[in-house]
Order: sequence, then C-alpha cells, then structure tokens
Amino acid sequence: MLKKLFKSFRTPLRRNKHSHSTPEVLTSHQHPIKRGQISRYAVSIVERLQNAGYQAYLVGGCVRDLLLDIDPKDFDVATSATPEQVKAEFRNARIIGRRFRLVHVHFGREIIEVATFRANHPQGDEPQNSNQSSRNESGRILRDNVYGNLEDDAQRRDFTINALYYDPVSERILDYANGAHDIRNNLIRLIGDPTQRYQEDPVRMLRAVRFAAKLDFDIEKHTAAPIYTLAPMLGEIPSARLFEEVLKLFLAGYAVFTYDLLVDYGLLEQLFPATAKALRDNPDYTDDLIHNALSNTDLRIQQNKPVTPAFLFAALLWPALPARVLKLQERGMPAIPAMQEAAHDLINEQCQRIAIPKRFTMPIREIWDMQERLPRRSGKRADQLLENPRFRAGYDFLLLRESAGEETNGLGDWWTLYQEASDSERRNMIRDLSSSKDDSAPRKRRRGGNKRKRSPSGEGAGNE
Ligand code: ATP
Ligand code: MG
Repeated sequence: MLKKLFKSFRTPLRRNKHSHSTPEVLTSHQHPIKRGQISRYAVSIVERLQNAGYQAYLVGGCVRDLLLDIDPKDFDVATSATPEQVKAEFRNARIIGRRFRLVHVHFGREIIEVATFRANHPQGDEPQNSNQSSRNESGRILRDNVYGNLEDDAQRRDFTINALYYDPVSERILDYANGAHDIRNNLIRLIGDPTQRYQEDPVRMLRAVRFAAKLDFDIEKHTAAPIYTLAPMLGEIPSARLFEEVLKLFLAGYAVFTYDLLVDYGLLEQLFPATAKALRDNPDYTDDLIHNALSNTDLRIQQNKPVTPAFLFAALLWPALPARVLKLQERGMPAIPAMQEAAHDLINEQCQRIAIPKRFTMPIREIWDMQERLPRRSGKRADQLLENPRFRAGYDFLLLRESAGEETNGLGDWWTLYQEASDSERRNMIRDLSSSKDDSAPRKRRRGGNKRKRSPSGEGAGNE
C-alpha cells in the first residue's frame, strides 16, 4: 500500500546521472516514512548527535526497506562525528571493527550501528608516510576508514537504493544518487563505475544478488554485466567474511531466489565449488535437493521457526559426496570409511573458501553419519537412534533426500510411523524388519530423468 503510494509519486527524474552534489530532497509529504516507524533508540541517537552539533541521519537498509513497506531488520545511523566523538556522547557505546570502524550503541538487546561519514579513496592516492596501504594491487579496499562529508559518504555506498538519508527530525529524505528513482523502478544499481566498485569490494557482487532476491528487483544491466568475469575475485575475500555473507544470503528468507541468481551469475562456483561441480554432473538431483532444502528454510524463516546453518550446509554439500565416496571405493576402501573420508575431505576443502566454524561442521558430519545409521534398525538400534540428539535433523535430512528422488525403500515413511507408534507397535515393526530382511538395504539412487518435485511439506530445515 505504502509502497504503491510511494511508487506512484512523481518527482523530477534525472536520467543518465546517478550521482550529484546537490541532493534531491523528499519532504515528509513526498515519501511515506513516518518517524514512528523508526526505532525510538535510533531516533534518540540522531537527536542527541544533532543537538551536540553533528550531522546525523538514518541511512541504508532501513530507509530503503521502509520506502518499500518492508520491516527493517535494523537501523543504521550515519554521522559527521568520529567514532571517538560518538562514544563520548553515549555511555552504552563500543567501538568495533578494523577494516571498517564503527560504534555499536547498545539499548538492552537492541544495537544501533553508528558509522562516521566515509569518503572513497581514489586509486593510487595513498596517504603519505602510511605503511598500511588501504588497497591491494587489484584495487580491493583493505581498510575503509577515510572519513569524509555527507556527500562523500553517499558516493562510497554500494547501491543507489542504499544511499538514501532520512532525518527523523525534519522528516526529509536526502537522495544523492537517484536511489528513489531506482526504488520506484525496482533496480539494483551500483553507484559509480561498476567494475571499479566490484574490484574495491568483490562482496558487492553477493550483495547485488542478495538485494535482488530480497526485494524482487532486477540488477541493472551495467551493474550485472561485470559479475560473470569478476566473480573469481571472491577468492581474495577472507573466508571468515564469506561465511558471514553466506549466512546472510541463505538465512534472509529468500534463499531459493538467491541460490538461482548465484548459479546464474557464476557466483555459486566461487562459494561452493564442489556443489557447482555436482550441479554439472548430476543436475536434476542436485538442483532438486538444494531447492527443496532452501524452500524449507525460507518457509521456516517465514514462520519464525529456528533454522540451523549446519542443516543448510549439509544439504548444499551433500550432492558432492557420492562421486567422492565412489572414487575411494574404487580404490578398494570399504563403504563406511570411504564415506567418512570423503565427508572429512569435502568439509576441509569447503572451509578453505568459507570458514564454517567447528560448531557447525560437527553437526554436518553427524547429520551425514545419521544417513548411514537410519537404515540399521534391528534390535535396540531404532530406539537408540531415536534418543540421539541428532535424530530429528538426520530424519529431516532423509526426507529431504527422498524429496529429491533418492530411493530409500520407504525408509522415511518407516521412521515417520515408528515415531508415532506405541511400544507394542514398535516391537512389531522391528520384528517385521527381520522377517523382510529389509534392515540395512543399500542405498540406491535413481539417476537422471527424475520428475522434478518441489517443496515437500515444510519439514526439514533442521529442528533443533
Ligand atoms: P540489510 O541490513 O537489510 O541486509 P543494508 O543495506 O542495511 O541491508 P548493511 O550490510 O546493514 O546492509 O549495510 C548498511 C549500509 O552500509 C548499506 O545500505 C550500504 O549503504 C552500506 N554498505 C554496506 N556494505 C557495503 C559495501 N560492501 N560497500 C559499500 N557500501 C556498503
Ligand atoms: Mg542494515
């Protein structure tokens, strides 16, 4: 409703020019944002900084999202005050970050990020006497702590739609980069020269995809074009930062769209090389399994249910396992150790790219191990498995594999019934197993030509 209202507003458009030194000003009558929609803590920070004589605005995702009638995830403040000056104004403030220093102001559980206006650092313009270069040879910005004025700050932001400044006191929006125009036209557009902006920070390629998926916007063609060739630059990004970015990509509630865009732009190859290979070698199964896992994740997020990253990574990497297990078996290794070793190697390789912390790699292994154990149900085994803290995730994962067409001899249904059964029914189910010799049936995979199934019932993104 508000979105339509804002989108139908006509303000003069400046074509062919996406940055200018005089901002377009939208008064409170020209945009739908109301001061009451903003976190009261964020408003009070802005007021306090302004009263102390600094400039201060709300900026970035919160302004963009409010214009699109989306609930902002958080509220970011930009100010002319330095981190030390901000810290001096608030008792509950901490300076954080090295690559990008900023201040976290804490109000109970809410944290407002306050960043000092930054300027772009022109290439080759390193400060003299500096032994810490702020760029590397390929132009990547290593430290982004050169302060500037408001207009500089707008120019150094990534996308036009992220460079809108809202002053909750005057209720005006300042637009230096035609962001309002791009919001009306559903466009993700980098500010400045796209190639250079990606070279400065290759993570912007992931951010373009993330916002396109979240907002259902198109990536403007000049912003889209360099991604295919520059994607390998993601290899330069520290694996810990990529881990954070990957979580944002897949846990924002739009994982299916995001994944499809990552594949289309050749970015998946950079983040999950083994998965990208599985997608080439065994496209139907890989695509189905990952789509189903991600649509469950999206659904759970919509329903405010918890999602564990371990389940997500387990699903993203699983399709890369069988070929590796087979290779080891061909060298004479028995099935179970082959599976163990393939899992270990795959996770290690993946962690070179994306630093998945141990607290997630352990449960990935356990979910996978569970797949070997779920078929073995005789005697007391079934009951012992039910007691295993990883049972639920393992069972969900089994259903996920089945949803992608994997043939398991009805194992998922068996476990569904077993969980609901009474003690005596359970005893009968176990007895029937030994008579049907169905206990540890080998896994068979249906290859190629699967009917594409989408979205099983909504179970599966790990229930812990
Ligand atoms: P959301 O919080 O909804 O994911 P956001 O736009 O607020 O989206 P943040 O990562 O919180 O994204 O960043 C806040 C703002 O900082 C962005 O809107 C953008 O203006 C700027 N920004 C963030 N990362 C970069 C980057 N890599 N390059 C340039 N500007 C950036
Ligand atoms: Mg934000």
